[in-house]
Parts: sequence; C-alpha cells; structure tokens
Amino acid sequence: MAKILIIDDSRLIAHVAKTILTKGGHEVFLAQDGLAGLEAAKAQQPDIILLDLIMPVMDGYQVCEQLKKEESTKEIPIIMLTSKAEPADKVKGLQMGALDYVTKPFDEGELVARVNIQLQLKELYEALQEKNRQLQEMANRDGLTGLFNHRYFHDQLSKDFLRARRYHETLSCVLLDIDHFKKFNDTYGHQTGDVVLSTLGRIIEDSVRDSDLAARYGGEEFALVLYHTDGPAALHVSERLRQAVEGCEVDAEGKTLNVTISLGIATFPHEQIRDSKELVECADKALYQAKENGRNRVEVFDK
Ligand SMILES: [Mg+2]
Repeated sequence: MAKILIIDDSRLIAHVAKTILTKGGHEVFLAQDGLAGLEAAKAQQPDIILLDLIMPVMDGYQVCEQLKKEESTKEIPIIMLTSKAEPADKVKGLQMGALDYVTKPFDEGELVARVNIQLQLKELYEALQEKNRQLQEMANRDGLTGLFNHRYFHDQLSKDFLRARRYHETLSCVLLDIDHFKKFNDTYGHQTGDVVLSTLGRIIEDSVRDSDLAARYGGEEFALVLYHTDGPAALHVSERLRQAVEGCEVDAEGKTLNVTISLGIATFPHEQIRDSKELVECADKALYQAKENGRNRVEVFDK
C-alpha cells in the first residue's frame, strides 16, 4: 500500500482517480489547488503525486517547480495528469521533473499500471540509496574492530580542527598503543592478535561518548578525538580507558591474556599546535613518552 496525493482542481477527475487507486489498496489524499497540494505534499510525504497541469492561480508547472525546490518533497515522484494531448505540454512537464504523464480521461488499467511502475522504481531507488549508504559506512570502518579507519579519522579530524579553531572550541586527541603487541602475535599467532585487537576495539567503543570519534589508527594503534574536552578531562577519560583495558582478561582460544595500553594526549588550543597534523604529532610524542616511562600509563603533551 502506498500513499498517493492527487492535486487536481476537478473534483470529478480527482474522485475517479481516488476510487480507482483506493481499489488498488492505496491510501489516497486529495488537494484541490496548487497551494493546498504543496502543503499536503510536505505534511503527508506521499510516495507519489498525481499532478494536474491546468489549474487556476497556480498551475501544475509551478507546483512541480516548487516541489522540486523543497528539500522534503524534491524526491517524490510526480505523474502529470493532463487532458491536453499536445506533446509540447508533456515535454515541458517531463523537463521540469515529472517522471510520467497520464492523459485524461484516463483508462483505469493505464493509470494503475503507470502508478505501480513509478512506485516500483521508487522502491528500487530507495534500496539502492540504502545500499550506497551501507557501502559508504563500510568504507569508513575498520573491518576487524568496527571502529572508524585511518582515512576517515584524518578526514574528520581536519574538518573538526578547523571548526574548533574558528569557534574557539577545545579539542583533545588521544593516541594509544597496545604494549608489547608483537608478543601476542609471535607467541600465540595472528588470530589471537586479532582477538586482542577486536576486544580492545569494543572496550574503546564502550569507554568513549557517542559524540566522540574512535578509530583504529593502524596496526595496534588507536586514536580518539574528544570534542569539547580539555586536557584534564581527556586525562580522566584516558586513565579510565587504561584501567578498563588493564582490568580486562582477553579470552583467546582458552588462554587468558592480560593486555595493557599506553596513551598520549594532546589538546588544542596550544601554541605549538596549528593544524590537525600537529595535534596528532603532539599526541604521538606524548604516547612515545608513555612508552619511555614504562608503558601502561598516560602522558599528556607539554603538561
Ligand atoms: Mg484542471
């Protein structure tokens, strides 16, 4: 069942069409002029619009133009209803964005068939859009952990950094690395290494706010962007994450593994940080410091 809006100034025509389409199981709304039609289209969000071309005050072309301009109605398929058989009118309507036309007085079978074709096309189009959205989402994600990937992290951070600079917002970046990760791979094999990585991914996901950005930066390295978060608050989040990892026992093929991480934090604004690249570099320096100072700890850049 689809929602269909008929915009036609002729009550007779509109009711005939409504009767035919209601019989086909559709829910039909009527509007008697262009303005009422535009409002109904916005309010009802129909699956398809049947639009009369010849109406007083606002004709079908104007309605079509408005529907295409408006964000909430521009994707709704339009079929023109025209009593004029002249090709020029049909061409004009099609050029303005209508997908098809039915000539009045219409044949019941033809009206139903043309409406159904457009409804099927709409469904296919929506399924395609959903598929594209899923593909886009997958392209931004790391396959193993489900966190965002390196490329997305950099794209997003560079945008976020510009915004933070313009609006004087505080922004923290945390880089973290699994301590002695090589030993998991070397001792237990790569599958176990992958279990460690995906477990850490889950802990990170649970530890950050939904509004923050968590990414697998590469190998055994992860990155966080904490929005509206100053140094002390970022330290708090990082320390909590460090403890969560330390307290977690990773179960890998019957073996219980203890994992620790080292973390480095850099926070903007800072005199040495002028762009997103420098923010990450400074977080990396702090991470290096955490490794130097014995691992399983958090260091803040230029504290
Ligand atoms: Mg008319």
